[in-house]
Amino acid sequence: MDAPELPQVLERARPRNERMNTAKVECNACPVLCQISEGRSGACDRYANQAGVLVRVDPVVLLRKTMADGEAVLVPFAGRAADAGAGGQDAPAEQPAWSGDLLLTEEVFVTGVGSSTTYPDYKPAPFIVGSKVDGVDMVTVVTEGIFSYCSFKVKIDTDRFLGPEQANVRCKGEVVGHVTTAEYGSQMLSLGGVHHLTGGSKKEGRIANEMMQMLGNKQAVELTIDGGSQLVIQAGHAPIVNGVAEQRMRVGCGSAAIGIFARQFFGQADEVVVVDDHITGVLTEHQAGRCLDMKSSGIKMRGRKSTPGRYFQVANPGTGWGGTDIADPLSIIETWDEAVAWPGLRLLMTSTTGEHASWYVLDESLNPVEAEMPAEVRRIVDRIGENCEPSMTSVLFLGGAGGSLRAGVTENPVLLTRSIKNALVNVTCGGAPAYVWPGGGITVMADVLRMPDNSFGTVPTPAIVAPIEFSMRRSDYALLGGHMDQVRSLREVLERGAWHNDGAPQSVAWLTLPSANPWPLGQPPLLG
Ligand code: SF4
Repeated sequence: MDAPELPQVLERARPRNERMNTAKVECNACPVLCQISEGRSGACDRYANQAGVLVRVDPVVLLRKTMADGEAVLVPFAGRAADAGAGGQDAPAEQPAWSGDLLLTEEVFVTGVGSSTTYPDYKPAPFIVGSKVDGVDMVTVVTEGIFSYCSFKVKIDTDRFLGPEQANVRCKGEVVGHVTTAEYGSQMLSLGGVHHLTGGSKKEGRIANEMMQMLGNKQAVELTIDGGSQLVIQAGHAPIVNGVAEQRMRVGCGSAAIGIFARQFFGQADEVVVVDDHITGVLTEHQAGRCLDMKSSGIKMRGRKSTPGRYFQVANPGTGWGGTDIADPLSIIETWDEAVAWPGLRLLMTSTTGEHASWYVLDESLNPVEAEMPAEVRRIVDRIGENCEPSMTSVLFLGGAGGSLRAGVTENPVLLTRSIKNALVNVTCGGAPAYVWPGGGITVMADVLRMPDNSFGTVPTPAIVAPIEFSMRRSDYALLGGHMDQVRSLREVLERGAWHNDGAPQSVAWLTLPSANPWPLGQPPLLG
């Protein structure tokens, strides 16, 4: 027996709640179900009531491989100018609709940015776009997903101690994340996530949501770490730690710096100590010094010896030399072996970035006396600095595709998951490559700097709104039970917009594909 025909509820819903003011329209693009008065926008500022019609306020972002000089960057969908004039979105009427050659549609990619959300889950995604790549029929399923399960992983290139691992990270006093495992030359934060969005107070969820949106949209965020530092971080910018902009990402740990520059130190200094909170290196004891037949200096270090010439815990973590709390590097030297050390011994102490460096000569009592650093030694210290990269904040969005994202693609979501794992589907976020984590589910990670500006929004559930696109061969889309009846050619999309939005005006913003990004169609997926 045929299934009964289901009523189709479009997002541009008219008033349907009898108790609702008839001047309002209900937005059903997310569980909040805002009832929006004329001339006002909903709680997320993404939808508005314009003359009784629900409209998506922001333009859909379309990528082109190349952009002709002077080409309009914000235009209504082709054929929508009249709609816009009839009380729709403030599309610039004097601008023409896109006049691009529709034969060049292989150069156009519809991103999820501004594409709209579908709710409840079973609705097909707003754009299911058919296109051709090298003669192969492709489909891209495009949506602006609502992510309750998502977070931002932040890599901060600095030696400086930001806070103990597992310490709470706060924004406006609310806990919004924690310090996680440090990496090579970088401190790492895990921010946002379902625990803070849903598991704490309403205020914690709201602040976490706002912070995540700002971070994803490449804006600066101010944070404090319990027992640690105050931070200002922004994707693609140097972190500001306790009011000081970080400059250099270290060349390596203290041991690595000894190993890299040992031959250059040879003959210029009798001992070199590279101060590092994690692994402090001592040249004459280190394998690099031994291989160069360097004479032992008799230096006795504080801290815990790991292997020859490599010391842990020479001081406490901090924002001083090499990520320690010391201002005087001599404080990490216990003593000198009188039977080995000699007056006139030349000692260089430097941090892993070369930002701190001092030169000493032992006096008759074997006390280090600071002296002017010889030019050749200064040149090596400068080279350490030269090998440091600019300190940067990197922000990666990490999200799990939930209900509407998967059901918007297919009626049988596990087939989508399997197709992704079988490398049949390329996942992108705003056209940027997304790494798909191994294991179950669809957990993706993307660099926000490779995504269009303002890709992220929020809804007050609270949750993050983020673009996601699934691209595959049309034949594979049919096999995984895709919504084939909602596939629209790119030409049709450019003429009519999203399937659920027919007649409601929305603008298009054209962007050129960032040079760092591969063209999203026809690419092998980044699988874990
Ligand atoms: S929060 Fe936004 S998406 Fe959700 S119902 Fe309100 S206007 Fe629509």
